[in-house]
Amino acid sequence: MNPFLELGIREEVVKAISEIGFEKPSEIQEKAIPVLLTGSDDFVGLAQTGTGKTAAFGLPLLEQLDFSQKHPQALVLCPTRELCLQIAKDLEKFAKYIDNVHVVAVYGGANISDQLRQIRRGVQIVVATPGRMLDIIGRNAIDFSNVKYVVLDEADEMLNMGFQEDINNILSETPEDKKTWLFSATMPREVRRIAQKYMTDPFELTVGTKNTGNANIEHQYFLVKARDKYAAFKRIVDSNPEIFGIVFCRTKIETQEIAEALIKDGYNADALHGDLSQQQRDKVMKRYRDRSLQMLIATDVAARGIDVNDVTHVINFSLPDEIENYTHRSGRTARAGKTGISISLINIKEQSKIRQLEKVIGKPFVKMQVPQGEEVVAKQLMTIIDKVKNVEVNEEQINTFLPAIMEGFEDLSKEEIVKRFASLEFNRFLDYYKNAPDLNIDAREVSGDRRERGERGERQSSKGYTRLFMNLGSVDEFSRGDMLGFICNTANISGKSIGKIDLKGVFTFFEVQDEEVNKVFDGFKGVDFNGRQVRIEVSGEGRSDRGDRGGRSRGGDRGGRGRGERSGGFGGERRDRGGDRRGGFSGERRERGGDNGGFRDFSGKRRESKSKY
Ligand code: AMP
Repeated sequence: MNPFLELGIREEVVKAISEIGFEKPSEIQEKAIPVLLTGSDDFVGLAQTGTGKTAAFGLPLLEQLDFSQKHPQALVLCPTRELCLQIAKDLEKFAKYIDNVHVVAVYGGANISDQLRQIRRGVQIVVATPGRMLDIIGRNAIDFSNVKYVVLDEADEMLNMGFQEDINNILSETPEDKKTWLFSATMPREVRRIAQKYMTDPFELTVGTKNTGNANIEHQYFLVKARDKYAAFKRIVDSNPEIFGIVFCRTKIETQEIAEALIKDGYNADALHGDLSQQQRDKVMKRYRDRSLQMLIATDVAARGIDVNDVTHVINFSLPDEIENYTHRSGRTARAGKTGISISLINIKEQSKIRQLEKVIGKPFVKMQVPQGEEVVAKQLMTIIDKVKNVEVNEEQINTFLPAIMEGFEDLSKEEIVKRFASLEFNRFLDYYKNAPDLNIDAREVSGDRRERGERGERQSSKGYTRLFMNLGSVDEFSRGDMLGFICNTANISGKSIGKIDLKGVFTFFEVQDEEVNKVFDGFKGVDFNGRQVRIEVSGEGRSDRGDRGGRSRGGDRGGRGRGERSGGFGGERRDRGGDRRGGFSGERRERGGDNGGFRDFSGKRRESKSKY
């Protein structure tokens, strides 16, 4: 007898799965199917992807739903659109010989009307990603009152992607007496919490080895002074020329500052934060997916649900406020069986956080040394050599030009030519890292405060002016002139009060005479542009490494910038400005929680004003 029949699966289904090559149950199927067929227990299955989970829950679902009815009876939640489509397709295959089975795949990034139409026509099984599911629930377009089973597939991934709240909201739409079946490759605390919250005495099953975190992620930290952070970060990036990374910051201003600085320094980077319109967000994400961007600078909130494979590095430019966000962040790398590195840039006070994180991920962090200038230069040089060696030569096309090329190089020896080609790309690094100091904290302590010019940020507002940020830019079809007009008209100030205007893609920095700053804030209060609230902020606010210095009061003397401000790096140079002042302007001052070197207690769950992310 077919072993699936023995497990209690009906003949029509066994016929269908035989056709797709399922001869005998996989381990998880063998163990889970008999339990799930009773339909009486909640269930937790710990199993890696690729173990046959879909059939393990799919086959019992097909046995227990009533296909003469056309309302949703099972809801399968999963983290990504790809998985959603895969599960829906698999279920349809399993159900090939059962009549009237209707499965709908509900996921973001596709036309919602088609999905709504399918739901209206009648479905018994809804396979969904959390975001789109909530959207549909919000439209009152689905009735979950008859749902008997909820499957949470790849629960750890869903939590990694920040879907916890969405899942809570979706589950609250389903009946109390439904059964919940949770599958997860790992069982971190958050997943355990979900199991405790939503399940009664679940049947637990582990297939293969249990682990608590993604074993493929290496966690590293670099100990640097706050003001050296950006310079250290650049060295790390420069010594990983093939990096395809996500850089996490705490606030949107920080994402913008870093993105802006990186762009200025010749990198392909852009910011992703909660203030972008959907269109702007899509544009940035498309560029990242296409690899036109090498680095995405994101806030935790904005990075939710990002599903990009092959991310090589996650960089915590600032550690997250909430400890569990670290796992969410690092989970963006090492996906689909690949390996990845999660890097944290920390100062001395934050070392205790690393110890806390080690407990959570169940794995030690590796303390790394910020590469020395020469190391970076050597790495870049090797990359250039590799590039030259591996470049694809189009013999046919280049042949036509070869005589001219040869003639052009006639006077140069082979050695000269090699030197010159290498220098083409290399000079930037040579220059930059000339006399570069050691940025490691222990070394800096000894070597004093030498800094090289190259790593010094150069942006500061002109004397008597305040540099402001606005969340509109060239993608909103502003020219510099338009922007000047927009500011002057809205704030009712003269063009003479405006200094430099730095129009960027999705935002703008502009200078305003100190005495007119309040007018700008007042004028822009409640102003919308194309349906989006216009935000003005003092540039430089929100830097994590700012608060350890006393700030000036609102309207303080901006002209008197002290030595400390000017000599700092990217962080240091700017951090004295704005931080506390801005608190005065907009009332959005960050609560710093005393900089106690510890994480905020998640259970207390203090959320900052959303607009900052
Ligand atoms: P899953 O973990 O559900 O994504 O399944 C991983 C792969 O294994 C898929 O390609 C399934 O079609 C296949 N598979 C699942 N169960 C069986 C089985 N009992 N026999 C053969 N292949 C299977």
